[in-house]
Amino acid sequence: MSSMMYYTIMPDGTVKQLNPFTGTEVWAVAGRRSKPIANDVPQSAPPLEVHTPEDYCSFCPPRYYETAPEKSRLICTNGSWERIDLLPPDRYFETTAEFRRTGNMFEIVTLDYWRKNYAYKMPASRARWREDYLATPAGLKHITDIVYYKLRREGKTDEQIEKTPLAEKLAVADAFFGGGHEMVIAKRHFKDGATQASELYSSGEMTEEEHYWYFKLTVDSIRDITINNRYVRYISVFQNWLRSAGASFDHLHKQLVSLDEWGASIQGQIKMLRDDANVYNEFGVNFAAHHNLVFAENDFAIAYAGIGHRYPTIEIYSRSQAGRPYEHTDEEIRGMSNLVHAIHAAMGSQISCNEEWYYTPIDAVYKMPWHVLIKWRVTVPAGFEGGTSIFINPMTPIELRDKMVPRLYKLRDEGKIGWLRIAEECRVDPNPLKYYIK
Ligand SMILES: [Zn+2]
Repeated sequence: MSSMMYYTIMPDGTVKQLNPFTGTEVWAVAGRRSKPIANDVPQSAPPLEVHTPEDYCSFCPPRYYETAPEKSRLICTNGSWERIDLLPPDRYFETTAEFRRTGNMFEIVTLDYWRKNYAYKMPASRARWREDYLATPAGLKHITDIVYYKLRREGKTDEQIEKTPLAEKLAVADAFFGGGHEMVIAKRHFKDGATQASELYSSGEMTEEEHYWYFKLTVDSIRDITINNRYVRYISVFQNWLRSAGASFDHLHKQLVSLDEWGASIQGQIKMLRDDANVYNEFGVNFAAHHNLVFAENDFAIAYAGIGHRYPTIEIYSRSQAGRPYEHTDEEIRGMSNLVHAIHAAMGSQISCNEEWYYTPIDAVYKMPWHVLIKWRVTVPAGFEGGTSIFINPMTPIELRDKMVPRLYKLRDEGKIGWLRIAEECRVDPNPLKYYIK
């Protein structure tokens, strides 16, 4: 395959790109809107009416009973982190969760999907948790309240809900205990000292340590989901930041959606791996290195400006030999987390984005490296894209790289991000990803 196919800079500066992994065709026109990233709050932002403690939405700490029951929480006492699983409902307020893992009350792929299509049964440990939970007055009240809320949101009237037998209402709650669509929710809603409504708490506001634990809980959740549902073949992990990226809550959270297939794109990529085990080096990092798109790395991960994406996209790859996040060592997870954190911190909290995780599917025998794409949702594809299947990206990969680099230097100087090499300091050795080693 010729690299010309994938990345061509035309004499007028237009950059034509073809994503080597997805085939997406993209054009970017250089220099049109090349302002440096500003993390300033827009002048028009409404002022924030500060609440202490924060109680702005159902994900805020005083409102623990407004989410599905908690599968895990992380607490931090004098710098030491601890995970508490299946906390009894009457003890929710004894500690403050730095991060919580709960079911999503409005599942994309429902518990019924698994039951009806696979005869899935909740494992005994989950069923026991459900029994114990409902046996406490606080637990029963919590579940009754959120079932009512869910049914109301689904369009039922008070009268209809009133007439629904308790057993039927509690059946609705099964998904809260045994479903495979989950969330990992951060503690904060707004950043420290926020005075305006747009100053939300993003991934980049965390310390490296907090971000590591956010990643670690997400990785552990992937593993736990696979243990609890043997029909799951892939778990889609993503974070939508701000409404224009599809977030229904402004409060930072990740989502995990269990699936019984890999999806066409991953399937296609696994086929590529079968033909060429080194494809993620060759058309990923090596390719990016040759075109000077690699702009940050540490010993465990490497980041570059991606080509052939509808939106400006930063790709962060794990260098590990392991293909699944939960097969990584804690040190490797920390390395990935640090680099992803650095990217979020450099972008700031004002750019709407999707963070998407990719990795070797649970039942794949060909290894795909764990990688995270951060897509800036700064444009809305219009009619041109629909008609031609050529997407217009408002930024060239080089422009994206050049926006990130000065911000990363500054943050590193200020000690706000983990140790990393930036721009020309990157070594970019050939084949830096080691996933292909058996
Ligand atoms: Zn909130």
